[in-house]
Amino acid sequence: MNPEMWFTEKYGNDAGLTFKVKNVLTTQQSTYQRLDIIETYQYGRVMLLDGLVMLTEKDEFVYHEMITAPAVMSLKSRKRALIIGGGDGGTVRELIKYDFEKIIEVEIDNVVIENSKKFLDFTACGYNDERVEIIIGDGVEFVKNTNEKFDLVIIDSTDPFGAAEGLFSGQFYTNVYKILNDDGIVVAQAENPYYSPDWFLKSRKNMQKAFGSNTLNYCAFIPTYPSGMWLFSIGYKNINLHNYFNEKLYSINSHTYKYYNRQIHEACFALPQFVLELIK
Ligand code: SAM
Repeated sequence: MNPEMWFTEKYGNDAGLTFKVKNVLTTQQSTYQRLDIIETYQYGRVMLLDGLVMLTEKDEFVYHEMITAPAVMSLKSRKRALIIGGGDGGTVRELIKYDFEKIIEVEIDNVVIENSKKFLDFTACGYNDERVEIIIGDGVEFVKNTNEKFDLVIIDSTDPFGAAEGLFSGQFYTNVYKILNDDGIVVAQAENPYYSPDWFLKSRKNMQKAFGSNTLNYCAFIPTYPSGMWLFSIGYKNINLHNYFNEKLYSINSHTYKYYNRQIHEACFALPQFVLELIK
């Protein structure tokens, strides 16, 4: 008889989330991080980086729809998009739904992309789209050095330490501002206000340094991320984010969403009082 196998992601020293594990599909150490892909009973396949849940098969749709759709519906132009990180492919999968001419993904760790293609076909299913270009490299350096301009930049990163630390800095957002077109938008995953309020505030404040009052936060409910409540930071240039919603694009794509819809688009910007207190 096999002994039961359980995995716990620890939230600090005194809380966590535990999965009963059916199978370990792969375990690898890359230059940047340890990667595990496990099969669980309740949440399907789960990707872990350095022991932290990056996605689960059951609820990844929330994160990937919400890191893309609210911004896409607010864009005036959809020619070029840039993803920093995102090696599981979920953000690419969402962006290829739309009529972008070019989607560049800059991911530092090829091991994440290769194993996602092998084990996570539900997210890594868009890499063959001819509009998608993958660059293996550091997103901080790419944004600093590129001469290209983008309508949309998405920061789909790990937590702000190690390779991802620079993706939360003020200098990085200043460089993102420079590579955005005049009506461009940036979205970044911004952690959670329960276990990592400091990381959330860092994301918000550093985006604000570049985008000023054109910086907002919105939230989504993702059961397998710490606390289940996830925040995103969104910065925009010369547009009025709240006064433009692309009804036509929404009606073409609405059947593809499992979380996002017209009401969520409005409501996700409403923040609980304790989050408003944090950002005061
Ligand atoms: N959805 C996840 C979450 O919030 O838990 C994050 C997705 S995970 C695939 C993020 C990716 O960012 C990782 O594959 C990691 O290798 C990549 N990454 C981290 N730092 C990076 C950097 N400086 N440049 C490019 N990619 C980076």
